[in-house]
Parts: sequence; C-alpha cells; structure tokens
Amino acid sequence: MLALGAIPVSFLHVVFFMLSHPERTGGAETLWSTGIIAAHLGLMAVMTVLGLTAKCTNINGAAARIISTAIVPLILAVGIAVAVIDQLVTPNITPYLVACTIAAVVFITPPFLTISAYAAALLVFFITLGFVQPDEAVLLSNRVNGFTFTGIGIVLSLVLWGKHTTMIDQQSQITRQTEELRVKNEQLENLASFDPLTGLYNRRKFDKLLEHQFSCCSPEENFSLIILDLDRFKTVNDRWGHIIGDRVLAETAQLLRDQAADGEIFARWGGEEFILALPGFSEQETASYAERLRRAIEAHSFARGSEASGITVTASFGAVVFQCCSGLTLDEIIRQADHSLYQAKNLGRNRVVSASAEPASFLPN
Ligand code: GH3
Ligand code: MG
Ligand code: MG
Repeated sequence: MLALGAIPVSFLHVVFFMLSHPERTGGAETLWSTGIIAAHLGLMAVMTVLGLTAKCTNINGAAARIISTAIVPLILAVGIAVAVIDQLVTPNITPYLVACTIAAVVFITPPFLTISAYAAALLVFFITLGFVQPDEAVLLSNRVNGFTFTGIGIVLSLVLWGKHTTMIDQQSQITRQTEELRVKNEQLENLASFDPLTGLYNRRKFDKLLEHQFSCCSPEENFSLIILDLDRFKTVNDRWGHIIGDRVLAETAQLLRDQAADGEIFARWGGEEFILALPGFSEQETASYAERLRRAIEAHSFARGSEASGITVTASFGAVVFQCCSGLTLDEIIRQADHSLYQAKNLGRNRVVSASAEPASFLPN
C-alpha cells in the first residue's frame, strides 16, 4: 500500500515539469523534461497496475511475493532512469540516492533479493551513465557516488530485514507462549474443578454450576438436592485398606454416572459423600431416583479382580425438594438435605429420607 504513495508524487513531478516547460523547443532540455515526464508516467502506470492487481485479486502469498519482489527493482530502475536523464542538464544523481533509500526503507525484502537487485542496479547505473555524461571527472564522481548510495541502500535494507525477522520471531514466540498459557489455564481449571480420584466435579465446581442453574430456573420450577453417604465406610478402609477404599469410591462415582441424565449435576462432596442436583423433580420422583441409586449401590459387587473382590457397600440418602422461588440459599438447602441424611443414618442406614424444603422463616439457626 505504501508503494501507492509513489503515484501522487510522480503525478506532481509530471505536472511540475509540464508547467515549467510548456514550449518544447527541442535540444537537451526538452529531451530531459520529456524523459522525466515519461519516467514518472511509466512509474504511475506500473504502480496503478500493481495496486489494482493487489486490490482486485485479493492477493495471497504467491501473488504478494511476486509484487513485492518486482517493486524494489522497479523503484531502482526509475531512480536510474531519472538520474541518467538528469545528466542531460545537471551532473547530480540525487534521484538514484532517493530510489536506493526508498527501496530500502519502505520495502522489507530478503537479503538475497536486496543484494541481487542493488548489484544489478549499480551495474546498469554504471553503464548507462557512461552514455549520457560526457565529462570524465563528473562521470567518475557520479559512479563512485552511485557505488556509495548502493552500499547505503544495501546496509539499510539488511538492517531493516534483520529487525523485521526478529520481530516476526518474537511475535511467533508470543503466539506460542499464549497458546501454552491457554493450555495450562485449562489444566488449572480442570484441577480446580474435578476430583482426581473419582473424576467427578468437586465441591467448588458444584457450587458454581448450581448457582448458575439457580439463576436460570423459573420461579415455580422444582429443584432437588440429594446427598448420599456410604455406610460404615471406615470399616471398608480398616478391613481392606485405603487403596480398596479408593476403588470403592471410584466405582460409586461410576454408578452415579451410569444413572445420570442430561441436566443433572453430581459431584464428590467430600470423603465418602456425594451430592446430586436434579432439576424439575417432584418429591416423589426425587425419592424414586434416590431409591434406584441406593439399590444400584447395594447390588454392586465392588473391587472385582482384587483381594476384596465382590465386597458390597450400602449408602444412606438425604433428599430435599424445593422451588426456585423459595428464597432459600444453597447453604440452607444443603443443611436440610444433610438433616434428611442424618435421619436416614439414625433410622438404620441403607435408606432414603426425602422431604420438601421448609421455608426460610422456619429454619432453625
Ligand atoms: P457412617 O455410616 O456413619 O457414615 O460411617 P462411616 O464409617 O462411613 O463414617 P465416618 O465419618 O466415621 O468415616 C468416613 C471414612 O471415610 C473415614 C475416612 O478414612 C474415609 N475416607 C474419606 N475419604 C476417603 C478417601 O478419599 N479414600 C478412602 N479410602 N477413604 C476415605
Ligand atoms: Mg460421611
Ligand atoms: Mg459414611
């Protein structure tokens, strides 16, 4: 896009030269001004074609590379043409210096292209200057200056290319590090959300999910909470050891997974306790659901293939059903489910006790 800046600059040159030399009387000056106008018109035409090609074809990698490869030699060629034409009336070669500088500063080109383009430009400059500059001393001085300008152009271009590649390297490093950070954050989020032994959500995540569910449920909608606690689990550990105890907990989690349907949230509440949240269940449905789970645990043969193969475990369940509009907090609801669980334990374990939630005003402190 920057290259398109050459179009208005060339246009101004054309206008300026046309206005300054309205009558063409022949001779070196006319040839000079006509040559300059022609060189700038040529540059404008090529830049317009390149600009339109870039815009219309929505250039991708290959086309962009061809255009950016062509531009540097083109700028240098115009610089040489104007400097050589200038020799008809003046000994200076400023246009070549300007072209060497612009080609180096505005366009970032790889070293091989830079050195080839500038070397070819110097050769052409060196030869063509000999055709138009009759004064030997001026010719020598201009050729030496041309050599210096070419060197300046190459050094500038190489320095900018070095900075450009460093910047690209840094950008790709930042992109890679950002991706690594994203993956690590995801792992951290998993660590902070899941219980490693059972693979279920942990308490923290359960609270978060439930708060979200509460915020979306309609006021009249029922919600149930079930807390289950494995019975006399301490004796499992005492008799079979903690590793078997861990297997029992993991298998219990799998039984919960097997029973669960979409929209039901369940988690390891801590130790040998699990918690479930069921949206839209009546008290009857909640009790049946808990009863089904109770039977599944009771009937399951735990720790198969180990020395404890076939051990059985039971669980007690405390359930509470409430309406989203009840105004109860999660803590209050859990307290009521805990109370039902406590009753189930007191009544002899391996059973379900369910209740409808008491309104907040009836809760003991
Ligand atoms: P109750 O029927 O009254 O619930 O009796 P209980 O023995 O299940 O209850 P208690 O609270 O006395 O003991 C719970 C046991 O659960 C004690 C603890 O070592 C065990 N436990 C808690 N977390 C884990 C765990 O991650 N792995 C294993 N193997 N055991 C655990
Ligand atoms: Mg317990
Ligand atoms: Mg227990």
